Amino acid sequence: MMSDRLYYTDAYTTQFGATIIDRLELQDKIALILDKTFFYPNSGGQPSDWGTINLIPVVDVAIREPDGAILHFFDGAPFAGKDGTSGSEVTGEIDRERRFDHMQQHSGQHILTQSFIRTAAAETVSFHLSPDSVTIDLDVDTLSSKQVREAEDLANQIIWQNRPIKIHLVDREQALKLPIRKLPPIENGQIRLVEIEDYDLTACGGTHVSSTGELGIIKVLRLEKRKGQVRVEFCCGRRALDDYTTKNAIVYDLAAGLTTGQSELVAQVGKLQEELGTALKRIKKQRASLLGFEAEQLVKKGQRVSGLILITQTFTDLDGSELRILGAQLVQHAGVVALLGAAGDRAQLLFSRSEEAPGDMNQLLQAALPTLGPARGGGSASFAQGGGPAATEHVVRQAVERAQELLLAQI
Ligand SMILES: [Zn+2]
Repeated sequence: MMSDRLYYTDAYTTQFGATIIDRLELQDKIALILDKTFFYPNSGGQPSDWGTINLIPVVDVAIREPDGAILHFFDGAPFAGKDGTSGSEVTGEIDRERRFDHMQQHSGQHILTQSFIRTAAAETVSFHLSPDSVTIDLDVDTLSSKQVREAEDLANQIIWQNRPIKIHLVDREQALKLPIRKLPPIENGQIRLVEIEDYDLTACGGTHVSSTGELGIIKVLRLEKRKGQVRVEFCCGRRALDDYTTKNAIVYDLAAGLTTGQSELVAQVGKLQEELGTALKRIKKQRASLLGFEAEQLVKKGQRVSGLILITQTFTDLDGSELRILGAQLVQHAGVVALLGAAGDRAQLLFSRSEEAPGDMNQLLQAALPTLGPARGGGSASFAQGGGPAATEHVVRQAVERAQELLLAQI
């Protein structure tokens, strides 16, 4: 039940009439098989066309193995009546924008693949095209930026020379005589060859533009090393223009925001990062000395019990590391037990004591943590720290008081 694949010889027609051969229920979807179709099915790294049949959206198109029938899938249960019987005439329409995008990207893949063979002796082992990215995987460990530049330059030369791209259908005997880059296993019947004049000849079932100039431009975007291969992400035509538009807007906004020229942006951002690093270091140092001052005050205000200075305090403006600094500074004073808490997005408790002071900080922490909900932490007899989810100062205060009660009962 082989459907006639009209896109094989004509990639530009997007409206057509056809006759239903069969209506099937498959994978919770309805599928139609037509006598002929312009719809491209998912295959060879290229996604299917979208469009409509009798104005009903076609959501996927696939090849049925082994007979090669093309299945047009629909959501819901359309064509349930007379309109779905075999022999009925239908009208198909393909999403032209999506189709042309695939033609541009796929044709660009042929050109770039041949370019990498010529400039870097790198063969393409796989191709993937999606709405977000177009990639080829090359069978080399590494590519230099010079090699990439050369391949990209050559590909754009081929585009600007506006070379014809032709389709040939040949039999096995003819195919074996030709210098074909990639030949699939030949079974019965014909092989479809895609030729970029005097540049590349390969077997392929995809949809292509009819001359290279229709791509406009090809741009390599980035490389990614993958297990002995290099994945090259690139874009052509409309996607390249969209990419340029987006990036140009970003660069324009950044340069305007930083009041600098576009060519000075990288240096300017580097300078800002350096300045930020220095400023953060200075803030950290000043923060530490402020915490030292705060520690002095807390020791003065601390509760004097049984020869101890008991300090209980909760904060709303300290993070975990600042709490640690403060705890360390407090216990440099003799006879101090500090039970500290910090409220916020991540509630924190920090209990520490001077060498000779009594109390098991870890034990106090384990008693106090449940007040914070699902909180965790640990430590030693002289220092323990833990935290949990977001909590208000009131809740953190309760946790600290719980530890305080326990300690007062022990001394
Ligand atoms: Zn192709």
